[in-house]
Amino acid sequence: MYSLQDKDKLACSKIVATGKLLTEKHLVAGSWGNISCKIGESIYAVTPSGKGYTSLTDEDIVIIDQQCDTVWGRHVPSSESKLHVAVYSAYPEAQAIIHTHSIYASALAAMRKPIPPIIEDIVQIIGGSVNCAEYALPGTQQLAANAVSALAGRKAVLLANHGAVCWGKSLEDALIVAEVLEKAAQIAVICQSCGGAVELPADDVAVMHEFYNKHYSKRQMGEEG
Ligand SMILES: [Zn+2]
Repeated sequence: MYSLQDKDKLACSKIVATGKLLTEKHLVAGSWGNISCKIGESIYAVTPSGKGYTSLTDEDIVIIDQQCDTVWGRHVPSSESKLHVAVYSAYPEAQAIIHTHSIYASALAAMRKPIPPIIEDIVQIIGGSVNCAEYALPGTQQLAANAVSALAGRKAVLLANHGAVCWGKSLEDALIVAEVLEKAAQIAVICQSCGGAVELPADDVAVMHEFYNKHYSKRQMGEEG
């Protein structure tokens, strides 16, 4: 059995706090969606399956290994644990993952359409258009593989007929990605119903994303003046 250290307990309480914020911000409903963070090499803290965020406690969080086997905790880990572990494996920079069923991102996912690069904050933070992964049943290894393939270097991806997955360098960062993704999806739906938006040029997208990664995100984290 895994022995929980103070830093792991802190991670569990941050996941619980993030879950409440997801509910408040209407990015999830009920027990849908899930949250995880990396707490060690191939060790992850993840929300339990089927428990609502408003009543979630630190002790409800489950610790899993690379095979998605529980090493600590009294509940069954999230049914999308394979998806989380696959994203951590593909993106070593990822320290936290949030899977949402937010309304506008889910609407585009239901249409199996990407979120185009039409608003500056999404291209700065996420890195360009957000692809929609090919459909696979929830909780499957195929869904995890499809999501990783469609991420294509970005910090977010839509899951066809399902929702969205966002990763960040911290839980706070992943939450910003989830919020900006939902806002961009809403703008994209509005634009499509009013004649369409003008996409930002690829060169400008690259410049803005690089500036955000090199400078702005560090200023937000207090690492650069
Ligand atoms: Zn889901």
